[in-house]
Amino acid sequence: MTDPAANCLFCRIIRGDIPAKKVYEDDHVFAFEDINPQAPTHVLVIPRKHFAGLKEAQSQDAEIIGRCQLAAAEIARRRKIEQGYRTVLNVGPGAGQSVFHLHVHLIGGRPLAWPPG
Ligand code: AMP
Ligand code: ZN
Repeated sequence: MTDPAANCLFCRIIRGDIPAKKVYEDDHVFAFEDINPQAPTHVLVIPRKHFAGLKEAQSQDAEIIGRCQLAAAEIARRRKIEQGYRTVLNVGPGAGQSVFHLHVHLIGGRPLAWPPG
């Protein structure tokens, strides 16, 4: 069976095969600037472990999903955007998911309307 991580865009960014502006990393999590930012802060926080998205997550992935959220909170703290920011998981193509390696969008630095489109 082919390894899904082999050709995954975000796994390739983690490996350094594709350049990205790194924002944060630790043993479990990697974060980088979104290439098409929707706000002054638009960072993608991803687990080092490949899995396609929230739909595909298993109970053993609970901790790493939490770590991604906490890394987003830490980045928001460092960027001083805590007045208001959003962490977003797009789940499935109907919600705009286009890269199938779970990623948390951290969006902030401007007023954010509700509901999102
Ligand atoms: P989603 O549409 O939720 O799957 O989010 C995928 C995000 O990845 C989009 O916001 C894209 O702008 C972003 N993206 C795609 N390719 C790259 C890349 N090479 N470096 C950084 N961000 C990327
Ligand atoms: Zn991947």
